[in-house]
Amino acid sequence: IERTLVLVKPDGVQRGLTGTILSRIEAKGYRLAELKQVAASRELLEKHYEEHVGKPFYEPLVEFMLSGPLVAAVFEGHRVIEGFRSVAGTTDPTTAAPGTIRGDFGRDWGVKVQQNLVHGSDSPESAEREIGIWFA
Ligand code: ATP
Repeated sequence: IERTLVLVKPDGVQRGLTGTILSRIEAKGYRLAELKQVAASRELLEKHYEEHVGKPFYEPLVEFMLSGPLVAAVFEGHRVIEGFRSVAGTTDPTTAAPGTIRGDFGRDWGVKVQQNLVHGSDSPESAEREIGIWFA
């Protein structure tokens, strides 16, 4: 069965949107298999975001993810990776479609990194890699 790693990023936790975000994913029909709140270490985030090393938003992204607790979850179901990404909306919350998590609750706060509430894995390979990092 397909699995995906979902993170409620620090902006989502801080704004009290954790329950709303998780319930939208559950309401679409996916099964919540693992759940925990985490204060991530820099080491863990550097592993998670290794593909972005060297990009202009890399350091602000890591700092943002260190700025407060986040919630890590594993959801499972047939085509959950694609399905979660559809529920989350596109990366830039300013233009993400209404009806999506990012489109309904996100905006540009004028900072260097897009604070877009959630992360979801982008392929079965990255899902297994990321689940191994967050639920070791
Ligand atoms: P998606 O794959 O749905 O576009 P993502 O979360 O997987 O979204 P990535 O491209 O993996 O996006 O980037 C990781 C994170 O880095 C984004 O979620 C966002 O917080 C931030 N980010 C990405 N691109 C930019 C950018 N051009 N400027 C600022 N922050 C960015």
